Amino acid sequence: MADCLFCKIARKEIPAKLVFEDEDVVAFEDINPQAPVHVLVVPKRHIPTLNDLTPEDDALVGKLARVSAQLAAERGVAEAGWRSVVNVNREGGQLVFHVHMHCMGGRPMFWPPG
Ligand code: 5GP
Ligand code: ZN
Repeated sequence: MADCLFCKIARKEIPAKLVFEDEDVVAFEDINPQAPVHVLVVPKRHIPTLNDLTPEDDALVGKLARVSAQLAAERGVAEAGWRSVVNVNREGGQLVFHVHMHCMGGRPMFWPPG
């Protein structure tokens, strides 16, 4: 997708703080972090939303989850806990229409914190 922001980041046409890359996936720091750890894990292939998944994407989505967990472990938040979020479409709060898994942690992700 020529005009897609996350396709451009995946192709290195727009700079981002990359923290992971393999043949299927890139992960980078969110530009507006909502927590001390806030990484976006993104398939390199353009898929607009979770609504667009096909059975062929099952392994790819599994990899998004596993890479998120690996990054949480590297950041030292795996044990304490972290949050994985995928927003879908307007009422889900999706702003970038290229599937991405938020990996957030380093603070209590619920209210009231306890
Ligand atoms: P959504 O609301 O679509 O689930 O999340 C989009 C996320 O992308 C937001 O957390 C936002 O801060 C992040 N974001 C938007 N534009 C950029 C950008 O140019 N670079 C990076 N690294 N993150 C971005
Ligand atoms: Zn895209």
